Amino acid sequence: MPGRETVDVLVIGSGMGGATFAAGLAPTGARILILERGERLQDSREARDPRAIFQRGVFRPQESWLDGAGQAFNPGNYYYVGGNTKLYGAVLLRYRAQDFEPIAYRGGTTAGWPFAYDELEPWYTRAEKLYRVRGAETFDRTEPPHSEPYPFGPVPDEPAIAKVRERMIGVGLNPFPLPLGLDLDRWLKRAKTPWDAFPDTGCGKMDAESCGVNEALAHPNVELRTNARVERLLVEPDGKRVAGVEVSANSERQTIAAKIVVLAAGAVNSAALLLSSREGGLANRSDAVGRHFMNHNCSAVLAIDPTTINDSIYQKTLGINDFYLGDGRGGPPLGNIQLLGRVTAPILKSSLRRAPEWALGLMSRRAVDWYAMSEDLPNPASRVTVDGGRIRLDWKRSNWEAHAGLVKAFKERLRAAGYPIVLSQPFDRRTPSHQCGTIRIGLDPSKAPLDPFCRAFDHPNLFVVDASFLPTSAAVNPSLTIAAQALRVADHVAKNDL
Ligand SMILES: Cc1cc2nc3c(=O)[nH]c(=O)nc-3n(C[C@H](O)[C@H](O)[C@H](O)COP(=O)(O)OP(=O)(O)OC[C@H]3O[C@@H](n4cnc5c(N)ncnc54)[C@H](O)[C@@H]3O)c2cc1C
Repeated sequence: MPGRETVDVLVIGSGMGGATFAAGLAPTGARILILERGERLQDSREARDPRAIFQRGVFRPQESWLDGAGQAFNPGNYYYVGGNTKLYGAVLLRYRAQDFEPIAYRGGTTAGWPFAYDELEPWYTRAEKLYRVRGAETFDRTEPPHSEPYPFGPVPDEPAIAKVRERMIGVGLNPFPLPLGLDLDRWLKRAKTPWDAFPDTGCGKMDAESCGVNEALAHPNVELRTNARVERLLVEPDGKRVAGVEVSANSERQTIAAKIVVLAAGAVNSAALLLSSREGGLANRSDAVGRHFMNHNCSAVLAIDPTTINDSIYQKTLGINDFYLGDGRGGPPLGNIQLLGRVTAPILKSSLRRAPEWALGLMSRRAVDWYAMSEDLPNPASRVTVDGGRIRLDWKRSNWEAHAGLVKAFKERLRAAGYPIVLSQPFDRRTPSHQCGTIRIGLDPSKAPLDPFCRAFDHPNLFVVDASFLPTSAAVNPSLTIAAQALRVADHVAKNDL
């Protein structure tokens, strides 16, 4: 494209994958342009107001997707510099070593990854440094080997949560400190609220903006352009190399050429972009683009002890992996359990609209709020398509048997630990927080769009480094694995493509 703006590397999206990739590649001196559809999130009164966030949804996007039945819904998918990490819970867990191997679950079997945990280990270590992760690797028997300890010690339990930890130990469970990317003092200085699902306006979350984008922008060869929405990718006339992108910025359409294009718009939007860029989709010889959508099976589990007040503010410091490698009775794995951010009455009200907030307050003050998460398995019929320009997400949940088993087993322990009332509520398609798998890596170009370095088999200068590449969802939060692979791919590009 002669005469057009040309860069060495164009990164589409500034979330976990895109920002971390840019930070990894920045020291090479290559001219890197990050195109981000959203703006930087500004501080405001609403940023720490649970009613604004959860009841009025002021940070949610003004967009709707269609589900498999053609019903419109508003997805909790966030478009800001830093992407979904701006609202994330900052839990930065490694996949377990077993997650890279085939696993038989109650609801089916996963084929594992095209490489073993050891391949990603050094990149997990680097990602933990970049995201300043606080943790301790000695408490959890599922913790995979670390070549270096966590950069910082764990976030302390609040007194009420220290007592919860003792109650869990009392019923034979092994709670461990959740690894977190957080400057606790800074977060609480701005306002005494939890951080999980609250937007970070530069107040202490280690997210893709504060760590990834800002690290990349410390290099003069990196530019971030906001309010720049990529509409489609363009290919050279030979159909092989990606030539650049068409972008809408400030109501104008523009074409930007690049030697290397790195797609990182999130697992739903990246798949939609490839599918919309050419008849039959780009990078789609395998017909796998948009397929194998996974999102975890998750439930909120509220454990209520009418005799004990939970006066914690943030709460989110414990994880439990006693059911991660097996069900505890010789059966297949069930999943991970971790504390949610503290669920106060205004937050509960967003799901229980008809209940008065004062009554919800009576309940929430006596509740401890947990999050149970089980693996969703790759299924080609679970997919993202584009329907008349609109995203259709036909999520087919899998492995629900394992999730039901996890919630049941945990409820039994909670009752034994002295919580007579235990309530649970599954999360649905409106919460695609852990979306992944739609442009997966693999060894066989007839089955996967990307090679193990996230390079498109069909287009040698196209990489996809967001959650789309994940071939399995495991049962842990995805961000650290996305970051580790993004750093690994950046190193590969630096050595082979610049
Ligand atoms: C409430 C919540 C809590 C979570 N908690 C955790 C947690 O504790 N731990 C964890 O590991 N994960 C958590 N997650 C998930 C985590 O945020 C995601 O897994 C992660 O952000 C995915 O990274 P990504 O690069 O795939 O996409 P994203 O981070 O979403 O980034 C995609 C970026 O692309 C931009 N974009 C999209 N389309 C275009 C376009 N056409 N042109 C230009 N830019 C575009 C978006 O605006 C966005 O900035 C949570 C998510 C949510 C919503």
